[in-house]
Amino acid sequence: MLIYNTLTRKKEEFIPIHEGQVSMYVCGPTVYDLFHIGNARSFIMADIIRRYLEFKGFKVKFAMNLTDIDDKIIKKSNQENIEAKAVAEKYISAFLEDSLKLNIKRADLYPKATEHINDIIGLIKDLEEKGYAYNIDGNVFYDVSKFFGYGKLSGKKTDELESGARIEINEEKKNPLDFSLWKKAKIGEPSWESPWGKGRPGWHIECSAMSMKHLGETLDIHAGGSDLIFPHHENEIAQSEAHSGRKFVNYWMHFGFLNIQNEKMSKSLGNFFTARDVLSKFSAETIRLFFAQTHYAGPLNFSEELLTAAGKGQEKIVNLVERVNQLLSSDKAGQSTNSSSQADFNSFRESFVSAMDDDFNTPQATAVIFDFVKEANRIIDENPNLDKAFLEKILEFLSSTAQDVLGILNLNSVGNDNGKSLENDLIELLIRLRSKAKIEKNYKLSDEIRDELKKIGVVLQDQKEKTIYKKVKTDA
Ligand SMILES: [Zn+2]
Repeated sequence: MLIYNTLTRKKEEFIPIHEGQVSMYVCGPTVYDLFHIGNARSFIMADIIRRYLEFKGFKVKFAMNLTDIDDKIIKKSNQENIEAKAVAEKYISAFLEDSLKLNIKRADLYPKATEHINDIIGLIKDLEEKGYAYNIDGNVFYDVSKFFGYGKLSGKKTDELESGARIEINEEKKNPLDFSLWKKAKIGEPSWESPWGKGRPGWHIECSAMSMKHLGETLDIHAGGSDLIFPHHENEIAQSEAHSGRKFVNYWMHFGFLNIQNEKMSKSLGNFFTARDVLSKFSAETIRLFFAQTHYAGPLNFSEELLTAAGKGQEKIVNLVERVNQLLSSDKAGQSTNSSSQADFNSFRESFVSAMDDDFNTPQATAVIFDFVKEANRIIDENPNLDKAFLEKILEFLSSTAQDVLGILNLNSVGNDNGKSLENDLIELLIRLRSKAKIEKNYKLSDEIRDELKKIGVVLQDQKEKTIYKKVKTDA
């Protein structure tokens, strides 16, 4: 399997540190607002990568941090006159809810900065002792000149970085590229005690501290948006490698921008749609197909027309599933023993795997799915009496690829009611809310949702990573 590594600027064979296991860290949101559909692209592509690694049999430990203390959160807290903690909690909850709606698998860990203050302080202390950090009146900075190899991820020399980058101008710093590890408390801001006085951590140090704590000093994969290469990821390398003396990350992966009219979608430019806006018009499966049809590293233009087109494509997959389900439930299925009608579906599986093995080439993988749909429809057209095993194979293929890896199909919702009824949507909604309650450790509510659904004849079954349901007849 090949992965394009930002650090070496080439595709490399993927070899994990521990055979059969992958540690993967993705920079998560700063929780001060709803996330936009450009952020959703990164989260969804990271999810597809993780799902594919699992498909290949790797045991993946997946962590995504939540930046729950930051200038933007403090600004919002002042604007809305509520505590910074309350701002963070509100948007963590919204983030988890929208992630679930986008059919993004739960991370194994969602470490929060405010829950790792001691780890962060410990790391800064170590950097200070090793001579990589300096303290000016309670503000601690990283001394970039001390780290050999600064700029290796972005591939730039320090003088180029200085002139080209949006780095904060601060007269206290020795060098414009030096960055904050610990920020001295200002009046009215949340702060924590530290050896340098009251303050709060910088953004970059949180990712170094939390990723190394939970995944070890060297990670297999670290991913994030391309805008994080410099300075965020460059700084993570400087901090982590100065601390451990080891290589921090073996494979650096970066997601391309989502553009709107050829301009990067961003909060600061104001040209954005929230994921929630888009979810109100398009299904998660359609949104995911739209993203999967472009390689994760390239730029992608966002428009409603393109999403509508993706929706039409997604419908073709659903139509095939409905067709197969109808044949399976009719009396005809199973009568034929005509094995000559059995096409070789293995070749589709092989093409899917070789596309995904080549640096997660999802556009090619989705093309394989559409070729498969076409071929399956052709065989059904030409053979009125297909045997049951063959029809089940069609569903198996779509389930393991389109559903489990790409997340562009939900077989659960293509049910006996032709999939699109309000009732099924409501059941799915309750399942999502129950998953959210479980993440938030509100087991009382999650049990209540399960029990109440059972009373009206909907039985939930928790599988490893998802919950499925079936409808049963009730006495009532
Ligand atoms: Zn990060």
